This record gives sequence, C-alpha cells and structure tokens, in this order.
Amino acid sequence: MMNSFVEDNASAESFDSFSLHPDLLRAVKELGFSRPTPVQVQAIPVISAGRDLTGTAQTGSGKTAAYLLPILNWLLVARSDPSAPHHPRTRVLVLVPTRELALQVEGVAKDLARFTKIRAAAVYGGVGMEPQTKALRAGVEIVAATPGRLLDHMGIGNTRFDRLSFLVLDEADRMLDIGFMPDIRRIVERLPTNRQTLLFSATMPPAVASLAASIQKDPAQVSVGEALARPKIPDGIDHKIYPIPMHLKTALLVRILKDSPMPSVLVFARTRHRADMVAAELARAGYTVKCIHSDFSQPERIAALEAFRARKVQILVATDIAARGLDIEDISHVINYDLPQSVEDYIHRVGRTGRAEATGEAASLVSLEELHQLAAIEAEIGRSVPRLFYPGFADGAESPQAPPGTAARTGPVVYTPPPQRPGVRRGVRRTR
Ligand code: AMP
Repeated sequence: MMNSFVEDNASAESFDSFSLHPDLLRAVKELGFSRPTPVQVQAIPVISAGRDLTGTAQTGSGKTAAYLLPILNWLLVARSDPSAPHHPRTRVLVLVPTRELALQVEGVAKDLARFTKIRAAAVYGGVGMEPQTKALRAGVEIVAATPGRLLDHMGIGNTRFDRLSFLVLDEADRMLDIGFMPDIRRIVERLPTNRQTLLFSATMPPAVASLAASIQKDPAQVSVGEALARPKIPDGIDHKIYPIPMHLKTALLVRILKDSPMPSVLVFARTRHRADMVAAELARAGYTVKCIHSDFSQPERIAALEAFRARKVQILVATDIAARGLDIEDISHVINYDLPQSVEDYIHRVGRTGRAEATGEAASLVSLEELHQLAAIEAEIGRSVPRLFYPGFADGAESPQAPPGTAARTGPVVYTPPPQRPGVRRGVRRTR
C-alpha cells in the first residue's frame, strides 16, 4: 500500500521537482540520469520529508540513488549548519549483505557526491582491517558495511555512531538469508534511536517484515514491481538433470567435471559427512578442492572461501547451512550432488551462479529417491529440465530412465520430457 504523499508525487518526471542541492543535480546530470526511476519518484519525497520507509524494489531499479540522493541532500544542508562539528562524523550507515554491494553503495555515494566534500567508505570482511580502520578513524560521513566486519570495527572502537542520523538496510532479505539477523540486532541496539531508518528488500517474507516493524517508526510503504514472498529462480540459468543411482554419483561427478571446462564449481551435498566424502574423492581424482560445513570454524570457512574466490582451488564442496553464512556468488557452475530438501534451498544454490555473466549452469545429480523433490523444483522453474545420460556409464543398465538405443554414444544424450500437466506429477515414485 502506498501512502498519499507518495501518490501525489508519482507523476514527477524530472529530478528538478525534488528540490535537491545544485551539486547533486549536477552529479545526476553528469551520470546521465535524465529522469528519476519509479522507485526514486516514490522514495525521494518520503525520505526528504523525514519519514522511515520500507521499500520493495529489485536490484537494478535505481534504489541506491533513491535513498542516497535525499540523504546526501540532508547532509549538505546539515553541513551548512555552523554549529556542525568540523571533524566529519558518521551520519549514515548502510548495512548490506555482501562485499560486492558494500563496494557498489560506496561507488554510487562517491559518484553522487562528486561535487561535494562528503566522504564514503566500504567496510567488509575477507580483507585486512587496517585500510578500513584508517578510513573510519579519519572520519567519514557514509559507511556501507557488511554486519560481521562492522561489529569487529565497533568492538575495537573504530566507529562512532553517536551522531548517526540514517540507518539503511539494503537487500534486507538477503542479509537475513545469510544469517545476519543476530549481528543486525547487535548493531541496531548500539545506534541512536532518533534516527531515520530505511529498509529495502527485493522480497518481503515475514522475517523481513517483523525486522522492519521492530526497528522502524510508522514507515511509509513503497513498492516497485512485484513484491514476492520468496526470490524467483533467476533467468539465464541453464538447468540440467543427470538421473543416476545414488551409489554412482561420485563417478558421474568426476565424469561431468572431465567433460567440459569448469573454472569454478560449487558442489552441494546433503550432509557434512557426504560433503567430506565428495571432497576427498575429488581430491583423490586430482582436483583442487576445499570443503565447508558446520564442523569447520568460521575462520576456516572464510579461508576456504577465499581460496575458492581467488581461484586457487577449482571446487568448493558445501552444505546448505555452511553456504548460507558466506558470500559466494559469480561462479560459473553449481552442481547439486544431492538435491536440496526445499525449493527455497534450490533457489539459494543456483542463485549463486549467473549473476555477473547473466548465464550460469546448474546441474543436479538425481537418484530415484530424490524424484519427488525434483517435481517440486521443476514446477518452480516452470518448464521441463533436460535429462542428460551418459550411455555406457555403468553399462547403461544402471541409468534408470535412459532412453533406449543410446548405449553406443560417448557424450551425454539429452532428453527433455514433455511439459507437466497441472495436477499430474510425472515420474513420481515415493520410497518407503
Ligand atoms: P540500483 O538498483 O541502485 O543497483 O541501480 C541500478 C543502475 O541504475 C545503476 O547502474 C545506476 O547507476 C542506474 N541508475 C540509477 N538511477 C538512474 C536514473 N534515474 N536513470 C538512469 N540510470 C539510473
């Protein structure tokens, strides 16, 4: 639901209608933003009026500028106040789920503030503390941070939030998915309460709505596009299914890895034990591999992730729980050694591929025992996913659904089943 204030301004077609500082209008012009996007049309007046705001908007909607422009405008006005302290204090904290987003927000802030003296810094884990400590201690008005690393800085006194005026939670749903809720709560507890709080999220599941309710005061609601209860499976992902008996999964995985170049592969296994086993088998087959699951400490998981991210190892084997706590994206291939228990987990897993290049590959090794999970996943994808068979693999006899006449081929044979009719669950066989 939109409030009337928002609707009144929904026809604004130019940045001039927002009464922004000339330095900001100049930057907007130079960046080539000719007209405000819908989320900017709705959000800028609400934020400028001093209200809290809950916004559902997807990445790519222009939401970063939607909150940064009115905030920067406020900062420019606050700056001209002669009683304002000379040494810049942090007035704006933007919490984000990933280092990529922290850098992106810092970049947009610097772009929009290019004709001003306002400073911005990004704070995120996985790199040394020192440069961030220096930036924070020198004084910076805008901090874009991931929650874990920010708490480290708060713990050693590198931050001062006593003059904080804005708290922004960007991509709140992803932050909660990653498991940042306790960190967010610890941070918010230590912030001044007379602040303006803005929360943006692509989806509005109950956990995000209740977080919003607990940290905001009478927020205006702004919604651009569809507010989904959960994220969609991204377009541009090439889904593949390899039907295979459970006991042949490792041999098939090695075969798939051999068959085509895969620079970085994230393999998901159902349990810690299976993840260990898969990692050990892949190492034995000559692959560089690391493993993460909840038996490893957080520093060990971060070290494994860094090795994977730096392409020092080709393969990372993970369980869902371990992967949720880590910032892993922009990889070329996800392989589901085991299918996940829920459609949500499938979306989380495959969403890690195909971000940067807009295409990615998600292969699933599916045994008979997992067919019922597959039906739910295919229903979510909305189309039949091709089945790939390696004929002759274990003499062809083991592949339960291999079409006839394929035994002589060496590469995989592709078979795409006809689309499912509503209410008919094809190939479902439950094991007892
Ligand atoms: P965001 O949704 O904040 O990630 O923004 C997506 C992209 O849209 C960024 O590259 C912005 O630079 C760009 N952008 C933001 N606002 C506008 C605008 N009013 N006109 C054109 N591009 C914009």
